[in-house]
Amino acid sequence: TEAHLAAMETHADLNAYITPTPERAREMAAASDARIAKGEAGAMEGIPIAMKDLFCTDGTRTTAGSNILGTFVPPYESTVSTNLWNAGAVLLGKANLDEFAMGSSNETSAFGNVVNPWTRTDQPERKLVPGGSSGGSASAVAARIAMGATGTDTGGSIRQPASFCGITGLKPTYGRCSRWGIVAFASSLDQAGPMARTVEDVALMLGAMAGHDPKDSTSAPIAVPDFAAAIEQGVAGLKVGIPKEYRPEEGFSPEIDAIWTRGMEMLRDAGAETVDISLPHTKYALAAYYIVAPAEASSNLARYDGVRYGLRVVEDGDSLNDMYCKTRGAGFGAEVKRRILIGTYALSAGYYDAYYLKAQKVRALIARDFKTAFDSGVDVILTPTTPSAAFGLDEEITDPVTMYLNDVFTVPTSLAGLPGLSVPVALTEAGLPQGLQLIGRPFDEDTVLRAGRALE
Ligand code: GLN
Repeated sequence: TEAHLAAMETHADLNAYITPTPERAREMAAASDARIAKGEAGAMEGIPIAMKDLFCTDGTRTTAGSNILGTFVPPYESTVSTNLWNAGAVLLGKANLDEFAMGSSNETSAFGNVVNPWTRTDQPERKLVPGGSSGGSASAVAARIAMGATGTDTGGSIRQPASFCGITGLKPTYGRCSRWGIVAFASSLDQAGPMARTVEDVALMLGAMAGHDPKDSTSAPIAVPDFAAAIEQGVAGLKVGIPKEYRPEEGFSPEIDAIWTRGMEMLRDAGAETVDISLPHTKYALAAYYIVAPAEASSNLARYDGVRYGLRVVEDGDSLNDMYCKTRGAGFGAEVKRRILIGTYALSAGYYDAYYLKAQKVRALIARDFKTAFDSGVDVILTPTTPSAAFGLDEEITDPVTMYLNDVFTVPTSLAGLPGLSVPVALTEAGLPQGLQLIGRPFDEDTVLRAGRALE
């Protein structure tokens, strides 16, 4: 813990943490020492980690990367963080993120952008984005200023930053981890997951985070297996599906293609078989996601009204409505406002059937594609995590659709509620990490992690 707290100061320029918690870290580490002395060590005893600042932490400010929650100190602790502390983990601080987890580069944070510790070999001075929305978590693990970190993934926010920062990140099956105490973005998609250096660390951390929680009616009453033991089983005999729709017609970079092929070879060398499969509705996933997620966000974010949480902007003589408008106008950033507008529109009377309902139908077709593949005997599916490696902060991508295209390979998994793991597999020509994604059956994180091991 002390070594990490010192390294956090040395690397403060990465802006990976919004709120470092050195006092809480030292108290927790001391309590951990005491448990170790009594022979009562938990599975994550003494392991210092970062918590994405979307998880409520009792008595420690939780901002969701937004000005509207800039001074919010929750009076309760999320279930996932409680589970981690019960396993012995130590909180180093609250990690930076895109505002309300909406973004793919961590540039929408009200607390400033995060820097990726990796740089291009041909442009070593150029600062790169860490990906998003769990950009602070990914940067912290990559820079060794956290041994692991929690993330949340609604459409790729664990997997894409893991790929950009050269670490391992898992979005578990929807329902595997409790959402209680996590600031809600899109409730039918949001899922917490571990981000760490290796598949083994991710397996250990998932074991500590997961489990049924009566406080979240969508958390599954399913036993948590010993993920760390499962990964020792190897991949001999596993059938790995390669979906042809993930090779876009307009083509993607030959480098990414080569890394994907390399991943297939690694799995075959380890004894798995690769088979070509088709997931025909893949091309509609991004459009469906960017209706469903903003629709749910517009509803979830209605609670930030200046009455109950965080920021309140009101002047003498203002009506209640004036207060709502001023608070929300000042408290939310541009991307969050865009999502609220899109979502409100998509849910409006007269447009609901054309947009929201249609998107939910497309979502069902995407889930069915995956089910058909798994029913045909495929155990796990291999794809690239992202269409490119980390891009420059100086690119200042302002076109939202260009930014949304980062999520093209991660959102289908989210819409289907399936587990998805990103493992760093190779470096691009510019020396940047690139991850591959493994997608599994519902609640079959075991197989996904086993296959992930073969890609290390
Ligand atoms: N980049 C996607 C979005 O902006 C995914 C975000 C997430 O998974 N939280 O919605």
